[in-house]
Amino acid sequence: MLKLYNTLSRKKEIFRPRKATKVNIFVCGPTVYDFSHIGHARTYVVFDMIGKYLRQKGYNVFYLQNITDIDDKIIKRAKEKMVSPQMLSRNFEKEYFKDMESLKIDSVTKYARATEHIKGIISQVERLFKKDFAYQIEDGIYYDISKFKDYGKLSRRTILQAEDAVSRIDESKEKRNRGDFCLWKFSKKGEPFWPSPWGSGRPGWHIEDTAITEKCFGPQYDIHGGAKDLIFPHHEAEIAQMEAISNKKPMVRYWLHSGFLTVKGQKMAKSLGNFVTIRDFLKLDSPRTLRFFVIKTRYRSPIDYSEKAILQAKKELEKIDEFVEKIQTLKPKNQNKSKLQISKFKKEFEKTMEDDFNTPKTIASIFNLVNKGNALIAQNKLSLLDAKNTMEFLREVDEIFGFVFWKKPKKRIPENIFKLVKEREGCRENGQWQKADQIRKEIEKLGYRVEDTKEGPKLKKMSL
Ligand SMILES: [Zn+2]
Repeated sequence: MLKLYNTLSRKKEIFRPRKATKVNIFVCGPTVYDFSHIGHARTYVVFDMIGKYLRQKGYNVFYLQNITDIDDKIIKRAKEKMVSPQMLSRNFEKEYFKDMESLKIDSVTKYARATEHIKGIISQVERLFKKDFAYQIEDGIYYDISKFKDYGKLSRRTILQAEDAVSRIDESKEKRNRGDFCLWKFSKKGEPFWPSPWGSGRPGWHIEDTAITEKCFGPQYDIHGGAKDLIFPHHEAEIAQMEAISNKKPMVRYWLHSGFLTVKGQKMAKSLGNFVTIRDFLKLDSPRTLRFFVIKTRYRSPIDYSEKAILQAKKELEKIDEFVEKIQTLKPKNQNKSKLQISKFKKEFEKTMEDDFNTPKTIASIFNLVNKGNALIAQNKLSLLDAKNTMEFLREVDEIFGFVFWKKPKKRIPENIFKLVKEREGCRENGQWQKADQIRKEIEKLGYRVEDTKEGPKLKKMSL
């Protein structure tokens, strides 16, 4: 039975979706004004894994994600770059999709742009007006948090505590409560705008999500995900909006929040300047390493990023690669006698994943399998059946994790090295051992090691 840690109850709960086999998930997407960093990547890798896991369990998953393509940061950056906000946001949306593709994040069913849901947004603000939760002041329409009795139930903050964290868009001296947030912001000259019954403007940040989810899922759905820093005020505001409009609660059954990616204990953030973009990361390392680095920590714990930690992750992946390679080239003695008990590892996989995605334990179990398999191979006791079952199991795991198998980019062997290898083969065939050895040393000087195998010479690039 799958158990999820629900931020709303602060407890692990048995997962029971609203409909037996259908799961609706919404995850907060990017604000497209710049390149995403690896802290963002963590969130999207985590929910990609969760979506894929639920699908493998047989659920019909609708994974919805928004794209914030209008907001103050976009307007500001567009001005600096002297392009239109739309051009800027479309451009970075493209870059975002490129990053997602390289990270094999492909489980999202639908991406929804805020600007394509203005009608729904206006309709929600209208309904909040009718129910007396919304009010108009000089610069826009605001939500009166004192009117919503359950305000603070997700973040466990009171209305007074809500005053500490007011986003810039929500600053206004005329507000009824300092924690009130903007639903519709009137546009200043030169800013992009949409017409509304109250005047031209643009939506506030929180309202786009509830408009999008209401359109696609209705007023209630199963899972809402995002990084921890979105609990307040963003997700608190979403609840206040949707539950006030629909009078139905809870809007979301399970609130899942992923932990931060930290650098020396500090959250990775654009505002702190301690970030590495996904693009820069991928210049030096493989997307596979990033997926593994993220998944080896449980999704809601912090991960501290360092070069040392990445190196460690790479070493661990090499262990998997060596094991897979051994299995693929194995010529087993026994055909059907199983020694590996793969069903035990399958059960462990299921058990650890069902425990609120306890991936450190899942991965420890996979390395157990690797060690046990290696030991059997060394004794020539791994049967053909074991080999087949192991590969099948690893493929199932990889459908969710996406780091087990990864096509290595084919490295071309330089022409001069190729010639030397050929020459050395000729010497060996003619019994000129000394000369062959000389050539081997020459090849090593150029950074390659020759290994003589039954199938002929094999080249390995030596690490520098
Ligand atoms: Zn959001």
